[in-house]
Amino acid sequence: MSYKEPAPISHDKDPLESMMKRFHVAAEYLNLDEEIYNVLKSSVKKIIVSLPISMDDGSIRVFEGYRVIHSNILGPSKGGLRYDANVDLNEVTALAAWMTWKCAVVDIPYGGAKGGVKCNPHEMSQSELERLTRAYTQAMHDVFGPDKDIPAPDMGTGPDQMAWLMDEYSRARGTTVNAVVTGKPIILGGSVGRIEATGRGVMVSTLAALTKMKINPFNATIAIQGFGNVGSWAALLLKERGCKIVAISDVSGGYFNKEGIDIGKAITYKNENDGVLENYGGGKKISNEDLLTLDVDVLIPAALENTITEKNADKIKAKLIVEGANGPTSHEADSILEKKGVIAVPDILANAGGVIVSYFEWVQNRLGFKWTKNRVYRRSDSIIKQAFNNVFAISNKYNISLRTAAYIAAIDKVSRTYRYRDGSFTFQKNDKDSQRRK
Ligand code: GLU
Repeated sequence: MSYKEPAPISHDKDPLESMMKRFHVAAEYLNLDEEIYNVLKSSVKKIIVSLPISMDDGSIRVFEGYRVIHSNILGPSKGGLRYDANVDLNEVTALAAWMTWKCAVVDIPYGGAKGGVKCNPHEMSQSELERLTRAYTQAMHDVFGPDKDIPAPDMGTGPDQMAWLMDEYSRARGTTVNAVVTGKPIILGGSVGRIEATGRGVMVSTLAALTKMKINPFNATIAIQGFGNVGSWAALLLKERGCKIVAISDVSGGYFNKEGIDIGKAITYKNENDGVLENYGGGKKISNEDLLTLDVDVLIPAALENTITEKNADKIKAKLIVEGANGPTSHEADSILEKKGVIAVPDILANAGGVIVSYFEWVQNRLGFKWTKNRVYRRSDSIIKQAFNNVFAISNKYNISLRTAAYIAAIDKVSRTYRYRDGSFTFQKNDKDSQRRK
């Protein structure tokens, strides 16, 4: 194959580099031709905007906002909006591509996108955040649309931001367009089960992996890094299913209790203390780094990108890693973990529960109909399980990691769809037989 390996990007921990290297490994397995490799490695569109916002003290600050559409081959692009002081175009570009692979691996009809605004949401008032979200929506007015590009919550954003975004977009259109964004408050057309969806998907994929590994959940010990929406829901749901969560952590550090953390209490404590676990007394204080190397069965990184790297991968004792965050493991760490026999359920599969229920929300909005919680749970659990089994079968068949198998499943789906759409494939009896047109 003549395409070159992705060149390293200057800074140390670059999620775009990690994403591109995984893409490259899977492309080689698939023997992807160079044309399609070049199509899939590039983003369709990258937008950078400046957002001047009046702050509560009367000053004006200019924030930088981004939206990257990586692909719209499978359908309208889909992906969250991140408010974070460290967000930049590289990160958003990687996260957008991950959304493409995520939607493809769980077989929902979306391409991938991601948005971001460089800001510190914790230091901003509700009204400043509202003005920022409305300004961002105005700037992206021609980009967003229920059939074009559909944002959702991500780090630093939640139902409030989605409500403002929906309102601002609808005002400009002169009609209520609730399907333009997902993760809305339920009263505005949000779906039941969306808030816990990502954590629930992490729970389902953890149990699926434990079953394959013949580990009884009632004997499993788990450490979870990150106690935001994903980490706290995953903790609660896994505890409900009999697992013992021995450690949790957030920006304030880690908390270890070998008898098991009382997750309900930890969540209440966090909610009553400005959303942080600082001084939480239900466990011995440890560092975030210590948490990663605890002697547990399962490690769930549910915080940021690149927390498991070549620097600490060798010290990891967990048998199973389930990636609640996007991109928590660097490419270099992959091979170290593989050599040690650690199984990793990759982010694009393990944390897909959120976008799956976003898809259900969009479907419900377009139907003008509401599903019950039972239906949402049943259908999202079944999609994750099916995707897990499919990826597991590919990994067994070719004796490769679950990560490479997931990328193979995703890239194969997107590339074959592209080939049909551009007319270079013809249908033969069934999809698997599709062939290049003579
Ligand atoms: N931000 C979430 C993710 O990374 C959800 C995206 C969505 O629901 O569109 O998967």
